[in-house]
Amino acid sequence: MEHVGAADTTAFDWAAAGPADLHLHSRESDGTDAPGDVVRAAAAAGLGVVALTDHDTVAGWGEASEVAREVGIGLLPGVEFSSQLGPASVHVLGYLLDPASEAFTGERERIRHDRIDRAERMVHAIGRDYPLTWQHIEQHSAPGATIGRPHIADALVALGIVPDRSAAFEGILHWQGGYYQPHMAPAPEEAIRIIHDAGGVSVLAHPGSRGRPVMRMGVLGDLVAAGLGGVEVWHRDNDAPSRRQLLADAERFGLLVTGSSDYHGSGKPNRLGEHTTEPAVVAEIVRRSTGWAPVLPA
Ligand code: AMP
Ligand code: FE
Ligand code: FE
Ligand code: ZN
Repeated sequence: MEHVGAADTTAFDWAAAGPADLHLHSRESDGTDAPGDVVRAAAAAGLGVVALTDHDTVAGWGEASEVAREVGIGLLPGVEFSSQLGPASVHVLGYLLDPASEAFTGERERIRHDRIDRAERMVHAIGRDYPLTWQHIEQHSAPGATIGRPHIADALVALGIVPDRSAAFEGILHWQGGYYQPHMAPAPEEAIRIIHDAGGVSVLAHPGSRGRPVMRMGVLGDLVAAGLGGVEVWHRDNDAPSRRQLLADAERFGLLVTGSSDYHGSGKPNRLGEHTTEPAVVAEIVRRSTGWAPVLPA
C-alpha cells in the first residue's frame, strides 16, 4: 500500500479523470464482489475515480489499490462506520485516513469482534425457529469479512427461507423483527473524531435515509463541531426534501457535497455510478487529507 507523501497529489487534474463514485462495498464487508472486481467493474462502467468504503475494515485496500493501478482509475481508500445516535444507526464515511492510527485500529477491531458476537446471538435466536446455523453464515461470508445482517440474509436466502436480502431485512432481520440485536457502535461525534485524528476526511453517509435521524434531531451542527467534512447528498436513499435541506445545510455549515452509489454488488440494486461527486470535491477531499495517499488515475 502506498503511504501519503509517495506522490504529489496537489496539482492533479481530477476533472480529467472521469466520473467519481465515492461509496462502494466489497465482500470484505457486505458487498458480493472481491475488492479488485469492484474496481474492475467500476472501470468497465466508465468511472474514473472510486472510493472503497467497506464497513469497519480496511482489508480490501491493498487489492483494490493494485487493481486501480492496473486498470488506471483513481482510488480513495476509505471506510464506513455505523455509529449510534439514540436508537438510530448513523453511517459515517472516512476517506484517506491512516489505517495504522491507534484509535482507528482499536475501534474497528472492537466493532468487528462485537459484530461476530452479535451475529452469533442473532443466528442462535433465529435458529430456534428456522434451520439456520453458524456454519451457514461462514459459507456466505469471505474469511475475515466484517459480519453483518446481510450475511445472515444471504444464508436465509440460500436456505429458501426468504426470496432475497430485502425480504430478509423487511422480516426476520428487521430491528423490530424479534431477532434483532444491536452491535457496538461509537457516537457519530466519536466516529468523526477518529477519522479526523487519523488524518482522514469524514462525510455523513445517506443522511436522508431511514427516518433521517441527524436532520430530525437537529444535531448536524454538533457533528460539524466534531470535525465533519461533508454530506452525501446524492444517494438513492435521500428523498427530494432531504436533498434540498442537505444542500442548504451544506451551504450554511461549509460542508462538502458528495454523491455516490453505495454499490454492494448483487447484494443491493444500487448501480455503479448512479450518483457521482464533482471533481472539485474529490480534489478538496484529497487536499484536506493527511492520512493516506489516493491512487491517481492514469
Ligand atoms: P448491520 O450493520 O449488520 O446491522 O446491517 C446493516 C447493513 O445491511 C447496512 O450497512 C446495509 O448495507 C445493509 N442493508 C440494509 N438494508 C438492506 C436491504 N434492504 N437489502 C440489502 N442490504 C441491506
Ligand atoms: Fe452495507
Ligand atoms: Fe451506509
Ligand atoms: Zn454503504
